[in-house]
Amino acid sequence: VEILVGLATCGIAAGGQAVYDKLTELLETEHLPNIRLVKVGCIGSCYCEPTVQVNLPGKAPVYYGYVDPESAERILREHVLQGQPVQDKIINMSFNRTDPPGAKRRQLRIALKNCGNLDPENIREYIAFDGYAALSRVLTGMSPEEVISTVKDSGLRGRGGGGFPTGLKWQATREQVSPEKYMICNADEGDPGAYMDRSLLEGDPHSVLEGLAIGGYATGASHGIIYIRAEYPLAIARLNTAIDQAREWNLLGKNILQTGFDFDVELRLGAGAFVCGEETALIHSVEGKRGEPTKKPPYPSEEGYRKKPTTVNNVETLANIPQIILRGPGWFSSIGTAQSKGTKVFALVGKINHVGLVEVPMGTTLREIIYDIGGGIPDGKDFKAVQTGGPSGGVISKEYLDTSIDYESLRALGTMMGSGGMIVMDETNCMVDIAKFYLQFTMDESCGKCTPCRIGTKRLHELLDSITKGKAAPDVLQKMERLGNNIRFSALCGLGQTAPNPVLSTMRYFPEEYRLHVEEHT
Ligand code: SF4
Repeated sequence: VEILVGLATCGIAAGGQAVYDKLTELLETEHLPNIRLVKVGCIGSCYCEPTVQVNLPGKAPVYYGYVDPESAERILREHVLQGQPVQDKIINMSFNRTDPPGAKRRQLRIALKNCGNLDPENIREYIAFDGYAALSRVLTGMSPEEVISTVKDSGLRGRGGGGFPTGLKWQATREQVSPEKYMICNADEGDPGAYMDRSLLEGDPHSVLEGLAIGGYATGASHGIIYIRAEYPLAIARLNTAIDQAREWNLLGKNILQTGFDFDVELRLGAGAFVCGEETALIHSVEGKRGEPTKKPPYPSEEGYRKKPTTVNNVETLANIPQIILRGPGWFSSIGTAQSKGTKVFALVGKINHVGLVEVPMGTTLREIIYDIGGGIPDGKDFKAVQTGGPSGGVISKEYLDTSIDYESLRALGTMMGSGGMIVMDETNCMVDIAKFYLQFTMDESCGKCTPCRIGTKRLHELLDSITKGKAAPDVLQKMERLGNNIRFSALCGLGQTAPNPVLSTMRYFPEEYRLHVEEHT
């Protein structure tokens, strides 16, 4: 008998610790040693935290939401001890990884498969869920080249936003001749509203460590670095625990599993600059320098950390690797669309009923995510737009709700996949304000190294500001379009090149709104 309590940051913020403490106390005072109380990560249903899951032998798991210490006691007494589920606290799991029988399955969990399912601070549980089996298989029966072809054949592309094929990235580092190479995990998640990487690291840190070690073996690196922002204290603590445990079990460190392969991992904490998510800026920050991007080439695979060949992969990308090794590239590439394989994790936030983390096969439509999984728009309001790709992306309006989510389709609409932030807006949101919010963000986060981004975003922001304050010149929209395109084509790195996207895409899909703003005041 198991009771699982969601204790990721979302669960703790909602009061999950008090639920856990109450259950701990009851199990002790009632002398119930055969009931396992387990702290787990986020199951994705952040909208109804604190959550509790009850697993009784031979029965399907039952999920509860909005649990407080009082209802936790009822769940223990009525459900766990007497077999009578507490009906008024059961949550609709169409949002979650296990759909109710008969429901059309919308989600598919590969990267998030263990989140909310096991204790992230207990390596034994990860191992019981096939953890480190992929690393063992790779080290004992596959050459580095075979690992790289497996990842290439799977079609996995970088989940941090760029969508570059992961196998090709690994191959580029493998081909470099150097006694010193590095694998870096980019956990510098910084988009407003995005928390996929944090949640994954809080709920299943070992899967990322395992992916990183497999990448080290494939590329010839013996040193792994996880660059994570200091604002993620729980993810950092759980990663540190996971690293210590993996070392104890000889799954990291010298001569892993007695195969002769050495690979160890250290954490480096970032101070929270958005630009440090760009790989060259990230490498500079790891080196203790200012987090400023540099021109590519040379690419990190040729000249990265300490000027040595370096692979930089995102958290979600690495979490997919063990499953690809275990289940095969054919299985992975059978999921998704022709160009975009596998699944994608999204943080579904904003004006949506079921705020939380979702993982869906590539090719799922926006409508399915927003209405079937996310439960639609609160208070009977109308959907207006969704922002994907964070401050580097753009908005998608109502007419495109049936667009399938994949790298190419989103780019064709003038936005991007990004790392997985999905902010939903309803009819009350002003799109000019939205554009201004995102531009303010990139303006503040610009490292200031190049003029188009440092000055251009300021000027663009002033033009937007003039619109919202009713002081715009009649040709403001033409000026904004010209300036936005100039910044896109002349800024040095991705941050600047994509900074005008929220402005240009809102102008593209909501021209009337801009026109009315301007005409109202001229
Ligand atoms: Fe820095 Fe912006 Fe130039 Fe990138 S585009 S180098 S963030 S100033």
